Amino acid sequence: MLGTIEGIGAEASQKKELSLSEELTEALKIPSVKAENGMIECELCKKQCKSEEEMEIHKLKHATRDIPVYKFRCEYADCGQTFNNSMAFEGHINKHKG
Ligand SMILES: [Zn+2]
Ligand SMILES: [Zn+2]
Repeated sequence: MLGTIEGIGAEASQKKELSLSEELTEALKIPSVKAENGMIECELCKKQCKSEEEMEIHKLKHATRDIPVYKFRCEYADCGQTFNNSMAFEGHINKHKG
């Protein structure tokens, strides 16, 4: 906790949906890494952006649900399962491939 939002968040004492601004703050915490090709890669969905600015805009889309928040999504029809780790995801895909 940064301790700087006391007083402002009085109404947040009740459990409720995150406000949009809180979601934006959360979204900006999404880790991004520098990819080998020099691009910046979103850890959540593996999208690559050319600049930090572009990545920030991309992260905000996660907050506004323009892009769902998960790392891996099965593209097979009628499946659409989501995974947060590549091992589980690859194992799952292999099942489809039989
Ligand atoms: Zn992303
Ligand atoms: Zn699947």
